[in-house]
Amino acid sequence: MCMCGHERQKFVCYPISTAGRDGRAGINWIAERRFPADRPWRREDWNRPGDLGEFLPDFVPWRFPWLDVPALIESAAAVYEYPMVDREPLPRWNFGRMTLLGDAAHPMYPIGSNGASQAILDARALTAAVMRHGATPEALTAYEAERRPKTSAIVLANRRNGPEQVMQMVEERAPDGFADLDAVISRQELEEIAATYKRLAGFDPAILNGEPDLFG
Ligand SMILES: Cc1cc2nc3c(=O)[nH]c(=O)nc-3n(C[C@H](O)[C@H](O)[C@H](O)COP(=O)(O)OP(=O)(O)OC[C@H]3O[C@@H](n4cnc5c(N)ncnc54)[C@H](O)[C@@H]3O)c2cc1C
Repeated sequence: MCMCGHERQKFVCYPISTAGRDGRAGINWIAERRFPADRPWRREDWNRPGDLGEFLPDFVPWRFPWLDVPALIESAAAVYEYPMVDREPLPRWNFGRMTLLGDAAHPMYPIGSNGASQAILDARALTAAVMRHGATPEALTAYEAERRPKTSAIVLANRRNGPEQVMQMVEERAPDGFADLDAVISRQELEEIAATYKRLAGFDPAILNGEPDLFG
């Protein structure tokens, strides 16, 4: 997996298939750029075909010995655009016999490997609450009490780049580039930021492994 850039312009790519006989794998990529706030906005949508002319020129200089970003962009079978959008954390999820889960409850910027993974944690918490309290209003209350504060914090952290904040920090400290990353940001600082986000998002292995087995 590769992530490069900073909060104004970023490129992420990773294989989504195993390599075939020719050694080539399908690659998913995300080319992200920030537009001026006064630019006319298009409604959020995941399936609108993207226009290369709107972002490819910004990535033309991003030719590295190990990755030719513009060539990868131009070779895509399909390109879709989506705006980085979220919503303010909600004051409540439960309405009588109904509750919210996943993006309906906490739409967030899809960074830090998040969005769907939080929906899975919601489902786990809801299942546990129903097993404990039965299919009752108490179960929904317990579920909301556990998950709403946690996911609200992630929505807000993702507005500040989530764990990808380290890329912005390096950009600010060394805007003209660097030869030695350790001189710009220490490994300890990198690890602390990653660990803090993992704890916030519920991905910390020690915490996860310490949770009781739901079905045990
Ligand atoms: C580009 C991108 C990259 C992402 N990358 C990641 C990632 O790496 N990791 C990660 O964890 N998350 C990622 N996410 C976020 C993730 O996709 C969402 O958080 C996740 O899909 C939310 O799941 P959901 O089931 O709550 O909602 P959705 O996936 O939106 O599902 C809701 C479903 O309900 C259907 N629906 C809507 N209205 C109605 C109706 N009235 N009747 C019947 N059906 C209806 C919709 O068609 C849809 O199928 C990414 C998102 C985007 C856009």
